[in-house]
Amino acid sequence: MSDLHIIVCMKVVPKSEEVQIDPETMTLLRNEARSEINPTDMNALESAFLLKDRHGGRVTLLAMGPPLFEDYLRVGLAMGADAAYLLSDRAFGAADTLATSYVLAAGAKKLGDYDLIICGEESADGATGQVPPGIAEWLDIAQVTYATALSLEEEPGHLRSRREVRGGHEVLSTLLPALVSVVGHANEPRFMDMDRRAWSAAEPVTIWGLGDLDVDPEWVGLPGSPTEVAGTSEAPKRDRRREILPGAPEEQAQRLAAEIIPFLEAAGARE
Ligand SMILES: Cc1cc2nc3c(=O)[nH]c(=O)nc-3n(C[C@H](O)[C@H](O)[C@H](O)COP(=O)(O)OP(=O)(O)OC[C@H]3O[C@@H](n4cnc5c(N)ncnc54)[C@H](O)[C@@H]3O)c2cc1C
Repeated sequence: MSDLHIIVCMKVVPKSEEVQIDPETMTLLRNEARSEINPTDMNALESAFLLKDRHGGRVTLLAMGPPLFEDYLRVGLAMGADAAYLLSDRAFGAADTLATSYVLAAGAKKLGDYDLIICGEESADGATGQVPPGIAEWLDIAQVTYATALSLEEEPGHLRSRREVRGGHEVLSTLLPALVSVVGHANEPRFMDMDRRAWSAAEPVTIWGLGDLDVDPEWVGLPGSPTEVAGTSEAPKRDRRREILPGAPEEQAQRLAAEIIPFLEAAGARE
């Protein structure tokens, strides 16, 4: 299948270790942190590249967000994607997951000839995991969430996905076009290809705004977002015991074992 067309939905998020919370409003101070490609979207990208390596075809990046996303889309191009589309308009701002999935689905519809859409399982900032199923619902296509591995079946037009479930896994056969969200440990994302770097820096990222998409303006951004944040609270801090064990490594190991073994015995884990 050489004309396989995969869309990867790629979000840019603030680095979670740098995000601060405004103590007054309890909202994320996104501008205080540097940005990165959402970590599980790197796994989504790698899943797409593995399929492309095996079957040929092309990978298109799709993102909804502000113009700063463009630099990160170029990283995806340098990793191996063939084209990048950014859905960017002030009207799309302050979108909840319903409005976000609506706009991304409209972008995919405009691209038109896709076989597969791959997303990360969840974002590192919003972390709802609702956008991928939302896109699939808007497009009325099959969806597989929390996948760990993807392959094309011998029967044309069928995707095989391995999916994590409690206590095991499922193997699903899905008719294409379909949407899959992949988990963070699905694969090891590749590095940028330095030979593609110069090309990706010059390659245009196509920007589509409100007027380019077949959307109802009342369904995008804030007007299209029925979600209300009713309140926020800080999670209680856990008291953790910390101790630095003195001595040479062997002595430290003996001390550590002496500390741990009673806990294991109490839990019945050691005979
Ligand atoms: C009332 C409300 C107001 C909000 N206002 C703002 C705001 O002003 N500014 C703001 O930045 N956020 C805002 N958010 C957060 C915003 O709704 C979410 O970040 C966004 O809808 C995506 O949801 P998520 O992060 O939970 O994605 P998830 O569902 O956890 O993401 C799963 C996957 O979907 C794909 N995906 C998700 N979002 C995108 C995207 N934008 N582009 C491409 N792929 C994507 C990725 O593959 C990702 O791995 C608001 C949320 C609410 C509830």
